[in-house]
Amino acid sequence: MTYTCSFCGLRPAPSIGRYLMAEGGVAICSDCVDICVETFSEARRDAAKAKTPKLRLVFPQPSQGA
Ligand SMILES: [Zn+2]
Repeated sequence: MTYTCSFCGLRPAPSIGRYLMAEGGVAICSDCVDICVETFSEARRDAAKAKTPKLRLVFPQPSQGA
C-alpha cells in the first residue's frame, strides 16, 4: 500500500522514502517533519525570548562615610 503525506499530499522523497505514521492512516513525510521542526524550534525560541525576564544584578552599595 502506498501512502501519501497527510500534510503536503506527496509521496515520500525517494532518497528517504519513509513516513511517520499515526492512527487512522495519517502520515507525515520527512520534508514536512523538517518544516515542523524548524517552525516549532523558531516558536520555542521566540517564546523563550518573550518569557525571559530581564535580569539585573544589583550590588549593595557600601555606605558612604562609614
Ligand atoms: Zn509531506
